[in-house]
Amino acid sequence: MRIVNAWTISYEGFDPAEEGLREALCTLGNGYLATRGAAPEAAADGTHYPGTYAAGVYNRLSDAVDGRVLENESLVNLPNWLPLTFAADDGAWCGDVEGLDRRLDLDLRRGVLTRRWRARDAAGRTTTVVQRRFVHMRHEHLCGLQTTLTPENWSGRLRVRSSLDTAARNLGVPRYRGLADTHLRPLSAEPVGSRCLLVVVATNQSDVRVAEAQRTRVLRSGAELDVPREVVREAGRLGHELTVDVTAGEPVTVEKLVAVYTSRDRAISDPATAALDRLAWAGDFDQLLAEHVLAWRQLWRRFRVSLRGTDHGALGTVRLHLFHLLQTMSPHSADLDAGVPARGLHGEAYRGHVLWDELFVLPLLNLRLPQLSRALLRYRYRRLPWARRAAREAGYAGAMYPWQSGSDGREESQRLHLNPISGRWVADPTHLQRHVGLAVAYNVWQYYQVTGDRLFLAEYGAEMIIEVARFFADLATFDHDRGRYVVRRVMGPDEFHTGHPDAPDHGVDNNAYTNVLTAWVMLRALDTLRLLPDWRRTELTETLRLRPQEPERWEDISRRMFVPMHASVISQFEGYERLADFDWDGYRSRYGDIRRLDRILESEGDSPNRYQLSKQADVLMLLYLFSTDELAELFARLGYRLEPDTIDRTVEYYLQRTTHGSTLSAIVHAWVLARDHRERALEYFLEALRSDIADIQGGTTAEGVHLAAMAGSVDILQRCFAGVVTRDDALWLDPYWPPALGTFDFDIRYRDYPLTLRISGAGVRVSAGAGQQPPIRLCCRGREVLLHPGETVEFPGPAA
Ligand code: BGC
Repeated sequence: MRIVNAWTISYEGFDPAEEGLREALCTLGNGYLATRGAAPEAAADGTHYPGTYAAGVYNRLSDAVDGRVLENESLVNLPNWLPLTFAADDGAWCGDVEGLDRRLDLDLRRGVLTRRWRARDAAGRTTTVVQRRFVHMRHEHLCGLQTTLTPENWSGRLRVRSSLDTAARNLGVPRYRGLADTHLRPLSAEPVGSRCLLVVVATNQSDVRVAEAQRTRVLRSGAELDVPREVVREAGRLGHELTVDVTAGEPVTVEKLVAVYTSRDRAISDPATAALDRLAWAGDFDQLLAEHVLAWRQLWRRFRVSLRGTDHGALGTVRLHLFHLLQTMSPHSADLDAGVPARGLHGEAYRGHVLWDELFVLPLLNLRLPQLSRALLRYRYRRLPWARRAAREAGYAGAMYPWQSGSDGREESQRLHLNPISGRWVADPTHLQRHVGLAVAYNVWQYYQVTGDRLFLAEYGAEMIIEVARFFADLATFDHDRGRYVVRRVMGPDEFHTGHPDAPDHGVDNNAYTNVLTAWVMLRALDTLRLLPDWRRTELTETLRLRPQEPERWEDISRRMFVPMHASVISQFEGYERLADFDWDGYRSRYGDIRRLDRILESEGDSPNRYQLSKQADVLMLLYLFSTDELAELFARLGYRLEPDTIDRTVEYYLQRTTHGSTLSAIVHAWVLARDHRERALEYFLEALRSDIADIQGGTTAEGVHLAAMAGSVDILQRCFAGVVTRDDALWLDPYWPPALGTFDFDIRYRDYPLTLRISGAGVRVSAGAGQQPPIRLCCRGREVLLHPGETVEFPGPAA
């Protein structure tokens, strides 16, 4: 059973079918590394799946499938640092005894996972177990597991085994089984001194060395016991077995601390030395815990959210989403070369790759930890050379960012994927989603809008925007018959349409989302050139060999891009409306869950390409990224009139044709409905909250959380329902707050200003923290005020 409170998520009992989901949701991490919430005595056995991942640590392996060589790069499952098991006298190890009264509590405020249970062996010896663990939020290399064991009805010899398991493989996603999964090469595994163990492995292709050092101690009443210990080696594991005399009713505590380093870390000599040194000066579990809790308290201050007057489940889930976001990327990741993995550091789906999902994540960070957004954008900047090379190889100018990105920025999308329903390997042309580059440019621009960070724009951002614009300017061709630019053979965000029915897998023509964003990026490239200081404009013009005709072409495209429309509806792509109607009722009644119609149809020998149906929001993404005014401006510049009912008709049209086969879909739908259909928007928002905690995509959360849906759901509260928008050097507040959500209090940071906001009904209150900064412009419902440090301003709702 699951219980969600404002600051805790708890599970009672044990359900093998749900264990993978719980493990993913109980993952602990700190942006540098994360470890799934697997039981310490568990091994990967089909029910449990221990996994530890370090941000940016990938390895590439190849396989032969259907006569083709497939290469896949994966986020590597590192040696499992958790293993800890115990036995009463010569009874069975605790993984093989009966478990009673199981409970798991994830404390979001403190970042601590507590597991309680009672272990009863075949002889009836029962032991109470309380296990607490952290993955340290301040000292990012340290992890701790504290186990308190109380024999209930027996006295005698307690045996405890605490190990490091280097036999970890990537087995987390059933669909990838049968493909190569062994990424680690053991290098050494040795005891060091009397209490420590050290294992060192290397990834077998990327050659990242990983060292884990552990120290295990036994304490009674806070004092360390000098207990016999033996080194044990078993199948890939190196452990210490400790023996303690115990008395019924008297607890003993086993404290395991582990330090993890990789050869990618900075400020170290080598990972093994670093891990041993770090352990040598680490305090004990309780001291470390106090520092860990303090680090979380500080993070929560930055990410403060509170909902009053609504049920605790919503608030608890909102915090769970922030919690997992901050465990995937934290201030520690600001110094790493890592992007936003679509499924967190919580599992192996999408092999830990970075897709366009950061589009849904950065808005939250921009307003709270902008230095982190900057670091994530730098991940993209470092991969510009590869994106340029990809563009060149495809015959284009500029930079073509990959749909799936990993270590070096080459295209990591798989070319074949397994349809679990039909068991067939089918072509996967999703790399045709060129729009990912537009998302990169959009993110750079948004970051700049929120922070005003001109230095970043000049040093890094401008180059990305210009190179992306160049690529799309080259991808677009001029259609003389239409007198407009067109973009052929790409995929939009809806992955169900890989091509037109007569040319599947070759992309579609004139995906509206791609075309409109292409027009938009042209304008931003022009703005960027204007904004740059002269010296930098000169430098970039020289380095990029920017020709005077290029900005002219950008200007032209921004006025003459083609946008497909039919009957006052923006068409997803050219010809979408001519595709066959789909038998929604028939399929719903036959299959129940039809989110993944692509798989269902393929298994029937059919294809979604033939029908008017979409996996997720595609055209509607435009309404997610732009306000109605901005979109109307873009259209007007293109010479299209956005009729008053176009938006409504477009929303309704796609709502009826979308299966929501991606968790991103509910986010976008909540957003676009918020203005005029608050009740329906609220339903989608609540659905987005359920994405992972209720595993609504049927088994996918166990393979990693859906980070974009997690961040996006919180972003709906702030930017959509609360209506916080940053543009034109001002902060705009335009709430569409659903009364059912009560009162929303939250903190943001706008251009270095700490701001505290309260939204209740249509009323808004904003307080600025103290400081020396110049005032900021606040606009709300036609009123504009200058907010100075230390001031509070209220905008009552229209009715008040
Ligand atoms: C969606 C993509 C998304 C990916 C990772 C897919 O199901 O179609 O838009 O980037 O999941 O979250």
